[in-house]
Amino acid sequence: MAQRESMEYDVVIVGGGPAGLAAAIRLKQIGSDISVCVLEKGSEIGAHILSGAVIDPRALTELIPDWKEKGAPVETMVTDDRFCFFTRGAALTLPHFLFPPLMSNRGNYIVSLSNLCKWLAAQAESLGVEIYPGFPAHDLIVENGAVKGVITGDLGIAKDGHHKDGYTPGMELRGKYTFFAEGAHGSLSKQLCAEFGLQEGREPQKFGIGLKELWELPAGQHKKGLVLHGMGWPLDNETGGGLFMYHWGDNLCSVGFVVHLNYTNPWLDPFNEFQRAKTHPAIAKILTGGKRIGYGARAITEGGTQSVPKLSFPGGALIGCSAGFVNLPRIKGSHNAMKTGMLAAEAAAAALKAGRGGDTLSEYDAAYATSWVAKDLHHVRNAKPLWSKLGTLLALPFIGLDLWTNQLFGVSLFGTLGHGGADFATLRKAADCPKIAYPKPDGTLTFDRLSSVFVSNTNHEEDQPVHLVLKDPAIPISVNLPEYGEPAQRYCPAGVYEVVEEAGHPRFQINAQNCVHCKTCDIKDPSQNIVWVTPEGGGGPNYTNM
Ligand SMILES: Cc1cc2nc3c(=O)[nH]c(=O)nc-3n(C[C@H](O)[C@H](O)[C@H](O)COP(=O)(O)OP(=O)(O)OC[C@H]3O[C@@H](n4cnc5c(N)ncnc54)[C@H](O)[C@@H]3O)c2cc1C
Ligand code: SF4
Repeated sequence: MAQRESMEYDVVIVGGGPAGLAAAIRLKQIGSDISVCVLEKGSEIGAHILSGAVIDPRALTELIPDWKEKGAPVETMVTDDRFCFFTRGAALTLPHFLFPPLMSNRGNYIVSLSNLCKWLAAQAESLGVEIYPGFPAHDLIVENGAVKGVITGDLGIAKDGHHKDGYTPGMELRGKYTFFAEGAHGSLSKQLCAEFGLQEGREPQKFGIGLKELWELPAGQHKKGLVLHGMGWPLDNETGGGLFMYHWGDNLCSVGFVVHLNYTNPWLDPFNEFQRAKTHPAIAKILTGGKRIGYGARAITEGGTQSVPKLSFPGGALIGCSAGFVNLPRIKGSHNAMKTGMLAAEAAAAALKAGRGGDTLSEYDAAYATSWVAKDLHHVRNAKPLWSKLGTLLALPFIGLDLWTNQLFGVSLFGTLGHGGADFATLRKAADCPKIAYPKPDGTLTFDRLSSVFVSNTNHEEDQPVHLVLKDPAIPISVNLPEYGEPAQRYCPAGVYEVVEEAGHPRFQINAQNCVHCKTCDIKDPSQNIVWVTPEGGGGPNYTNM
């Protein structure tokens, strides 16, 4: 039996996104002797990073003030910022005075967050951080009530569980502190919330599914620096979400669509809502003649301040979207992810200097509470609950009013509203909901799932255990199919789940190799029967410029 290797660090960081990399850099800036490693499940840093992204550079500037001189891939400044309400055939541009300054994109940049992470990783490595792409953290090490590190996934296990030639057991990475920077709905972060009761007394976390395509536009249709957000059609009034379109770089255009995962109609199909949204005349005229070159999807946290869990626990901390710091009306989370990583790093560096390790970094919770991140989220705390309770049309003026009173007077007429239940509990029965007919893809403006997964460059070793674990394999057919029309067939943006006929009976099929790691199934399955675990290292999408 092969032995499990073990390595020790001062700080182990799970996840090489903006939060994890900012934490790693901050630790090394404070103490070059602090040993830090970053584990990343993607084949390289950035491979699994999918975002809009219009970024607020505030945290980046605090972390690396001379990022411009150092060549950060942050080049396209926002020059035109538009907000539209779509009906089926028309687009109404909303005037800027309706939105308070906190919504402004002045001074912000359109980037590929994936490319920015690659650059951050190079900065971290130059400071001595050890980065291990292709190494998913699969299990927690918890001893005597404290997190002591993580175990990476085993390599070389066959689908049926037997050890193949070259089987290598995962490694133990032990740290005096372990930071979890897994992004939205992290598989280990979820376990930590349960193990240490981190969500107790807080509202449940809320999510959206974000789908995105990268396009190359004909030069005449590209308006570098243009940011466009749209709401309304094709979503109905009860379903939250909307479209984004960012023009950047050399004729590149990031176009995407978010659907709030508290939608109620199980026949709704977020992927096809996105495809339909692109056929709106105002969007189609920009994309027509262009070429789609990338696709991906990822969950986004939407719960805001009400849903932020307790951040620290014995031996570790949640940073970035593992805890959920997205400012929903601004659709921005990367600045808050970076800043919370930096705050945790400062708390850990001070604790290590004082000879501590393995205890609770309460200083990090305290620093967050007085930080600009907490203020950023506090001002917008009622946007999501108002949207969920009132529907898009009625919510818009109330959200506008609430953002203005928060910005001007620091108060909300609504106090702090709750979110209600978790997203998996919002589906109504299929028989009570109208079916939705989606148009067939045309292959130039609109696409099907399989050709989309193809341009996400997704790849998994085929002969490995399925990483989408069903707690009870019977539930998809015995419960989800009759009650909800098995919605996994529609909410999964990669066609992983199918109900196929076999000898006259329905069978639930999991095409795990297509999974783009968005985590939607683990969030939205109405029976909470699907558990997303990390597959063998390096598997998943290989995003470029996303
Ligand atoms: C469609 C969409 C549009 C968005 N638009 C914007 C925008 O315009 N501006 C903005 O500021 N924000 C935007 N956001 C939000 C922003 O992307 C997030 O707030 C930000 O990426 C969070 O950073 P993070 O480091 O916490 O997590 P992530 O960016 O998700 O990074 C987590 C990393 O950890 C890795 N990982 C996860 N689990 C493990 C594990 N167990 N072992 C090893 N590695 C692991 C992942 O592969 C990934 O590389 C958007 C999000 C979406 C989905
Ligand atoms: S299987 Fe789950 S995590 Fe993978 S792409 Fe589908 S919904 Fe997302």
